[in-house]
Amino acid sequence: MDLGLRGRKAIVCAASKGLGRGCAEALAEAGVDLVICARGEEALQATAKGIAADWGVDVTPVVADITTEAGRADVLAAAGEVDILVTNAGGPPPGLWSEWSREDFIKALDANMLTPIALIQAVLPGMMARGWGRVVNITSVSVRAPIGVLGLSNSARAGLTGFVAGTARQVAGSGVTINNLLPGMHATDRAEALDKGAARAQNISEEEARAARWATIPAGRYGTRQEFGAACAFLCSQHAGFIVGQNILLDGGASNITI
Ligand code: NAP
Repeated sequence: MDLGLRGRKAIVCAASKGLGRGCAEALAEAGVDLVICARGEEALQATAKGIAADWGVDVTPVVADITTEAGRADVLAAAGEVDILVTNAGGPPPGLWSEWSREDFIKALDANMLTPIALIQAVLPGMMARGWGRVVNITSVSVRAPIGVLGLSNSARAGLTGFVAGTARQVAGSGVTINNLLPGMHATDRAEALDKGAARAQNISEEEARAARWATIPAGRYGTRQEFGAACAFLCSQHAGFIVGQNILLDGGASNITI
């Protein structure tokens, strides 16, 4: 299927690894020029070079912490006019309800709610004026099936989800869509770290820890960044203009919910 995206330009945040990288790769395959960011320069440069070589698109790497105002300004300045925005950043740490302070909440809200909102507010006017745009936010399965230890994440992502629900419907008439992709367990560095932690805690091998987590997913495995990226690219495609304000779960069936 031709996604109709050749020659478009996208910002993909937090994209040197993991799900952001998967989205950047899938958009590049569709012919989209990219501005990608991450805090660590080495991995970011390597990813940018790799994507440019594989797909022949322009890839501009910007070393930036996207959760800071200065980082967002650098990314937006490097990109100029964009057709596509994929928001993403690392998630807040796990913990217990009684331990979280006001500062912990402000940090989580800043990173996973107010950062994507600021980026959306920055790009929407141009997209609306040009009559076409796509925004995809990487959120979490926790939006639909909250995870107890991830209270900071649950809170921040619920806030972003509320903003998107209203805003997506306010701008849809201008040819701009905003949707959220909700990852369940995917095979990224984070999944590997969780497997290692579980193996240490239970005194079992990493393979045994992984097998135990896989057993909780009806698909019997983790998702891949390529699958996640393909879903993102479709949401950004010319075919997805009627998908507005949705929360699309990619979890291999792990959450036992229907709507
Ligand atoms: P990952 O594999 O750890 O990759 C994170 C990427 O984001 C790296 O490129 C990292 O590079 C970059 N990054 C992190 N914080 C950043 C920041 N403040 N500014 C700029 N770049 C930043 O993570 P992931 O698994 O892809 O997860 C992506 C998002 O999905 C997270 O919010 C996570 O909570 C959520 N999620 C993931 C899963 C999963 O199974 N993977 C499930 C549910 C939700 P640097 O470290 O160099 O900045």
